[in-house]
Amino acid sequence: MTDCLFCRIVAGDIPANRVYEDNQLLGFWDIAPKAPVHLLLIPKQHISSLYHMDDSNQGLIQAMIVAAPVVAKQLGLNDGFRLIANTGEACGQTVHHVHFHILGSFTDSGDTGFPA
Ligand code: AMP
Ligand code: ZN
Repeated sequence: MTDCLFCRIVAGDIPANRVYEDNQLLGFWDIAPKAPVHLLLIPKQHISSLYHMDDSNQGLIQAMIVAAPVVAKQLGLNDGFRLIANTGEACGQTVHHVHFHILGSFTDSGDTGFPA
């Protein structure tokens, strides 16, 4: 989709600080990090949100879950990370291409980024 920001990043039309790539997925730094490490993990295929995934996406869902700790460890998050998928505008989704936020390394700030 040419009007989708993350599809344009996948296509290379918009630059991103890429940290992970395989045949199905792309991982890159969030442009406005909310933690010392804040990555985004997305499918290369355009899917608007988790609401739009079903059993036909089983392999992709599995790949995303399996890749998340791999990407986290790659960035040095060996003591834990937070995985967030904002779904729907009412819950903070601003880019309508499904993505996992991978956040970690909170110890310096003491802020876990989790709303009280
Ligand atoms: P969400 O609000 O859950 O939809 O998350 C979208 C995320 O995309 C936000 O954390 C933004 O900071 C991030 N973002 C927006 N534009 C870019 C970009 N060009 N490169 C990397 N991350 C971006
Ligand atoms: Zn897209």
